[in-house]
Amino acid sequence: MTRKIQVIINPGSGQPKPVLHTINQIFRPAGVEWDLALTHKSGDAERFARDAVKEGVDVVAAYGGDGTVMEVARGVMGSNVPMAILPGGTANLMSVEIGIPRDLAKAAKIAANENSPVKSIDVGEINGSYFLLRVGLGIAAQKVEIADRDMKDKYGLMAYSIAALQAMKDAVPVNYKFILDGEEINAEGVTCLVDNAGNFGVSGFTISKDISIYDGLLDVILIRDISFRTAVNVGRSVVKSEPTSEAVNHWQAKEIVIEADPIQTIQVDGEIGRHTPISVKVVPAAVPVLTAPTQEAPG
Ligand SMILES: [Mg+2]
Repeated sequence: MTRKIQVIINPGSGQPKPVLHTINQIFRPAGVEWDLALTHKSGDAERFARDAVKEGVDVVAAYGGDGTVMEVARGVMGSNVPMAILPGGTANLMSVEIGIPRDLAKAAKIAANENSPVKSIDVGEINGSYFLLRVGLGIAAQKVEIADRDMKDKYGLMAYSIAALQAMKDAVPVNYKFILDGEEINAEGVTCLVDNAGNFGVSGFTISKDISIYDGLLDVILIRDISFRTAVNVGRSVVKSEPTSEAVNHWQAKEIVIEADPIQTIQVDGEIGRHTPISVKVVPAAVPVLTAPTQEAPG
């Protein structure tokens, strides 16, 4: 049976390379029947993905950055049609998270291959809307606010780190109240993250290797002390697998309520605009995704 793939392309992302040619070079010899849809505005990718599922395609492939991937994920959510990721944005954290190669031809091969394993990833839900990566509170939200389009174009991934360093200078302690699966915890910290995915787009760096997008749990990371040493320690905890130190608290839960005093701005997958209090929960195994055939089963 012919494999049908709907490719959804965000033309605003990516490098000045012949994308269609590369995709066709992989799909055609593999006997894939494919079509494409170009996004023009926010919401298009989700709608195209949902339509493609209805039309009975075998795979919906997202070419773009994490924003496009998030929309396509929402479009295929709750169906049996897997999403394939063709990394093309400035930030492609989701592709790193599930082990999709940066190289477009290699990523397209995974989409074309009928034997590529389908795994279902968790999605986070915050006050009724969905996220794939994380929710950041306080300076974790400012960090993205500063990483604007100009800076991203100029510095790429570096923009995020530069913005983070700028934000750290303004860090003030915040009183947080967490309700984690019904258990109340009060703690002071400078910034806080609720992670569905562990990586920050820096190769090999994850805030903790205990964070898994397949485990049906969200990870709450409270940074208590934002000194440079903390950043180094967080980095080291990856190697040593010591997620909780005096500078960092790490909890896991399915349902999370966070209040903050003073009220904190939040970012949801990079989108700024809301503030605390927030109510977050995990939607386990919500989105089927194609993964690399050689990848080991997630632990
Ligand atoms: Mg998890």
